[in-house]
Amino acid sequence: MKLNLRKLTTRLLSLSAVPLLLLGLVVTFTSSAVIYESLKDETQNNLKVLASTSYRAYEIEYPGDYALDGGAVTKGGLPLSGRHGIVDEVKRLSGADATLFFQNQRFLTTILTPDGSRATGTFAADEVAKAVLEQGQDYFSDRVSVNGTPYFGYYMPVRNSDGTVAGMAFVGKARAAVLHKIAHNILLVCAASLGIMAIAIAISSHYGRTIIRSLNRTKQFLGQIACGNLAAELDPQVLSRRDEIGEMGRFAVMLQHSVTDLVGKDPLTGLHNRRGCDVVLQGLIEQGRRRGAGFAVAMGDIDYFKRVNDAYGHRAGDEVLRMVSRCMSAHMERAGFLFRWGGEEFLLIYEDVDARQALPLLQALQKEIAGTAVPWEGAEIHVTITFGVADGRGARDADALIQRADENLYRGKELGRNRIVGDNGQG
Ligand code: GH3
Ligand code: MG
Ligand code: MG
Repeated sequence: MKLNLRKLTTRLLSLSAVPLLLLGLVVTFTSSAVIYESLKDETQNNLKVLASTSYRAYEIEYPGDYALDGGAVTKGGLPLSGRHGIVDEVKRLSGADATLFFQNQRFLTTILTPDGSRATGTFAADEVAKAVLEQGQDYFSDRVSVNGTPYFGYYMPVRNSDGTVAGMAFVGKARAAVLHKIAHNILLVCAASLGIMAIAIAISSHYGRTIIRSLNRTKQFLGQIACGNLAAELDPQVLSRRDEIGEMGRFAVMLQHSVTDLVGKDPLTGLHNRRGCDVVLQGLIEQGRRRGAGFAVAMGDIDYFKRVNDAYGHRAGDEVLRMVSRCMSAHMERAGFLFRWGGEEFLLIYEDVDARQALPLLQALQKEIAGTAVPWEGAEIHVTITFGVADGRGARDADALIQRADENLYRGKELGRNRIVGDNGQG
């Protein structure tokens, strides 16, 4: 059963993507609102300046009060009808529409009716008339209806010399035109936050996948152990993680060691460890005593093994141990028993041969080990091995027998290594 990689990734992804998406939306909306508000303020200020400029221009051009004379609007006694010059100039210079109202009614304006004529005689919206004409205040709105079209519009009261409000000066820009200008900025903000969201989602997706891959490898490792493969190896990438998953991997390896120890097997080489050795030896000693059968034990120790670790690293050393184990396992297949005694030491028990007969067998094994290279990162590692042999005939206890083999091994090391030393000193 494989971990459902996609399902877990989707879950992990949604854990990070949903808040990111919400954050992105909030950022987009708030920055759009901020952009809109600042543009609104800026437009209001610009329109205010334009409105008061056009108002003053009429004051300078036509000094005097506004009045209604026989149905015609006059200023300082001059009829104003048709004198669109100032409003037209405002439009030409700024692009904004301008209107001069007498009371609530347009009489000089750049605003056009659908048929293309000036919207003279049309009226301002009620809320505008109320604020400007009745209360004498300036009025600004970002969606005031100007002759049926929504505008950003600024109105200010136009006063006669006695302070009474005679009409209004208006300057404004069609809302659609203003919004068109900020749409570009808002699109930029949206694109930037979408880009950031995409990057963040890609990063969290990648991270999620590495987590799930490590979990999958740990699961496979545990599965192999559960199926009895005690020599299984956990991916070093998992073990090198510094997070909880790395810790879980390290615990899994500890579990592997505990289990292999319990079942009497060495996790690195898959050989039996020294636990079962006593039972085997006692059995052979008994058998020898009853039937006079000969047997021999050999303690092997890799020469200068520490140098391999020092020169190529511990993992290379492990590979060498596996190579030696493979050679020995094949060699001992029908000959007897093999144990990893500890470190780089191995105990071989020959069932039906005595020490003298074991000698050529050990020599062949020694030759094979010396001739088998372990390839490592472009180099080849070679090792030799020294054996100490003890004859089992007449032996009374396993410990003494092993000690004898050990002493012979020690002598072999002293004599220069890469040799086989027996009870009578042969080698
Ligand atoms: P000598 O010829 O006298 O036996 O020299 P040596 O270097 O082989 O012996 P020494 O006892 O000085 O060093 C044995 C080394 O074996 C030290 C230890 O770190 C290494 N070793 C023991 N078990 C393992 C293992 O499981 N893996 C690896 N890579 N190294 C191991
Ligand atoms: Mg050694
Ligand atoms: Mg040793």
